[in-house]
Amino acid sequence: MTIDGLLQKMAEAGIEHDPEVIRRVYAYAEAAHAGQKRDSGEDYIQHPLNVAAILVDMDMDATSIQAALLHDVVEDTGVTIDEIGELFGDKVKELVDGVTKLSRLSFQSKQEQQMENLRKMFLAMAHDLRVILIKLADRLHNMRTLKHLPEDKQRAIAKETLDIYAPLTHRLGMWKIKWEFEDLSLRYLEPQVYYELVDKVAMKRQERESYIREVSDILRNKLKELGIKAELQGRAKHFYSIYQKMLNQGKAFEEIYDLMALRVIVETIQDCYEVLGVVHTLWKPMPGRFKDYIAVPKSNMYQSLHTTVIGTNGEPLEIQIRTHEMHRTAEYGIAAHWQYKEKGPDDEELRGKIAWLRHLLEWQRDVKDADEFMENLKVGLFEDEVFVFTPRGDVKNLPAGSTPVDFAYSIHTHIGHQCVGAKVNGRLVPLDFPLKNGDIIQIITSKQGNGPSRDWLKFVKTTKAKNRIRQWLREQRREEFILLAKELLEKELRKQNLEVHENLKPDVLNDVAKRLGMVSMDDLLAAVGDGKITPGTVVSKIVGEKEPERKKAQTSVEKNLPRRAKHGVRVRGVEDLLVRFSRCCNPVPGDAIVGYITRGKGVAIHRVDCANIPMDSDARLIEVSWGDTEGDFYTVEIEIVADDRVNLLTDIMNAIAGLKLYISAARANTKKGQATISLRMEIGHLEVVQEAIRRIRKVAGVTRVYRASRGGRS
Ligand code: MN
Repeated sequence: MTIDGLLQKMAEAGIEHDPEVIRRVYAYAEAAHAGQKRDSGEDYIQHPLNVAAILVDMDMDATSIQAALLHDVVEDTGVTIDEIGELFGDKVKELVDGVTKLSRLSFQSKQEQQMENLRKMFLAMAHDLRVILIKLADRLHNMRTLKHLPEDKQRAIAKETLDIYAPLTHRLGMWKIKWEFEDLSLRYLEPQVYYELVDKVAMKRQERESYIREVSDILRNKLKELGIKAELQGRAKHFYSIYQKMLNQGKAFEEIYDLMALRVIVETIQDCYEVLGVVHTLWKPMPGRFKDYIAVPKSNMYQSLHTTVIGTNGEPLEIQIRTHEMHRTAEYGIAAHWQYKEKGPDDEELRGKIAWLRHLLEWQRDVKDADEFMENLKVGLFEDEVFVFTPRGDVKNLPAGSTPVDFAYSIHTHIGHQCVGAKVNGRLVPLDFPLKNGDIIQIITSKQGNGPSRDWLKFVKTTKAKNRIRQWLREQRREEFILLAKELLEKELRKQNLEVHENLKPDVLNDVAKRLGMVSMDDLLAAVGDGKITPGTVVSKIVGEKEPERKKAQTSVEKNLPRRAKHGVRVRGVEDLLVRFSRCCNPVPGDAIVGYITRGKGVAIHRVDCANIPMDSDARLIEVSWGDTEGDFYTVEIEIVADDRVNLLTDIMNAIAGLKLYISAARANTKKGQATISLRMEIGHLEVVQEAIRRIRKVAGVTRVYRASRGGRS
């Protein structure tokens, strides 16, 4: 192909253009690629020239042709996209930029379910439909010249063509290109099958061709008699569709009779039906094989009459009847309608075609101004979606504006809950970073993190993430309520001088719960903590159930524990405000803290990163700081995970002996040789907790030690 050849082709196709502009673009591309060779040994410029020629066959506009000539310069030479813009204008620049971005993506895919997402991503990446068409032409020329590449590359490219490009051309109704993609792919993926088919088809070709000729002659003469202008073509089925038929229907090659079809192309729709009538009087139609795609077009706007008749030699023959315009649509699909943009906005036909486009491409956005749309040819495909990759190359489809947190929840709820950071394309990003098409996302998780933050609700986009975060926060609050209820019940029992420990045993509480119509003890406690049932009601049920075992004295441990600090927090200058420490995060001096003004219960002190600060609470948050905490003690809970062994607990206790702390509760669980130990301790300052954690980590067998983010369960 030469530039003169290309210009001649453009003139023949009637594409409006300024030859000087095309020459200038060509000269620039040629200079940029100077010295580069293709694998075939040809000068590189042959590739863009041929891609441009394919676009001329598709009747594309001059801007597309210019972009086609320049489509590889940014990727393969030192030229920048801005330079293209300065030299050739914004329209060309946009197209070249779109093609360049698409070229950087790898669509080599994994499972079938991923393909559809990859195809959508492909469409989403291209804002202008012409970008897709240029990319298809680029791929077509590369497929045509694939024989010059090493075998492994041939296979990879052929597979990608079959998985991504061929289905796209199918959707776009570009049958001619689709068939070429499929046949070329088959040739490299299943060379043995392919060449066998080529041989077999060739063997009976003469026989078949003379049959078609015979039928054609009869029909042509009859139509001439009737004064109907028609063009007749014998069409061979493409190899890939024969192969598919053999596979899907389990047929041998010899059993496939419709290797060829006769196509009749006429001037008007009326002629189509007249020809059909003639065909059916000449030969016997096969029942159930007539299809009227003129009255009922396919979703991609394909139109034709299809019928199968028993021809002169007694063999079935498919005949397709259509107008010239229908024929162009069938061959080139969406591209065939390029020139229609010239027509006015009230064009009925145009509107139908735009509707088709929309339907075809599953375009969800409303087209408010069809004319404007066609003029700019901006395809707002999947504008409200974003397609990103997992590190393993799987595609995730998320709403536009989604963040790494949405991505994390889309993989698994646990990943979401444990998400503490994210990398996008290898770089650390904030959790509210908006994801872009083609990004590769890696989520950093930690089991020791604080779990979801209520702040996440401000930026997540997916319903799944929102629901999961809310649910988690609700569960946390429920746990807080349960803890609070225990405290309230303890207080109530003491007030009534009743024994505490025995009366709060699970079987007692479960029984009360059932009598109050609830499922479990936890439901009962949550209701008490939430204020739905008073502690007095529960205690009266407990007492009513069994003989009161009154005990004057509290257990010695409880008696000897230091009082829980109530002061030691300064609230923005205000003295003597009722302050209570939240049991969800158990702040201790040294922690960064914040106050939350409760309704009627004073100020609750939380750690600033506590997930349980109620949502929408900004107005009720108040700045607080630690004051004089000397001599006060605070509750904190540590969780330890260790390989279970003899004397484990003793060793842990010994490790922290001598630190200024009291153990107020210890609970251990062993499962499959792994011990989980919770220690509730009363301490004066954060430093003591940190030192305790450091020491426990050194105890043999201990795998993890961390401060529990929420209150302990004792
Ligand atoms: Mn290329």
